[in-house]
Amino acid sequence: MIEDKLFTLKYKTDKQSHLKPDLTKCLQCVEKTCTIICPANVYSYNEAEKKLTVSYEKCLECGACRIACKHIDWKYPKSGKGVIFKKS
Ligand code: SF4
Ligand code: SF4
Repeated sequence: MIEDKLFTLKYKTDKQSHLKPDLTKCLQCVEKTCTIICPANVYSYNEAEKKLTVSYEKCLECGACRIACKHIDWKYPKSGKGVIFKKS
């Protein structure tokens, strides 16, 4: 289960998000692919508030959302920040 795998990770959270979607594009976006494709559920969209929330601290840096949506300004977290994968 992916939840079991996610449980083994550690994170060093940056103060600022390394994922910056163009929120004006998000308002017009029908598919909201980011909310489906992300294995860590980083993106969620509140239809009533018309608001995309980006929980960047949970990002696995897999790059899937970067490929799926051209409206995300995607960078790796600053050096020393972000997800830490344990070696098995
Ligand atoms: S980030 Fe991209 S896929 Fe996600 S809601 Fe915004 S425009 Fe749509
Ligand atoms: S890089 Fe991967 S884990 Fe991070 S927000 Fe994008 S899809 Fe989710």
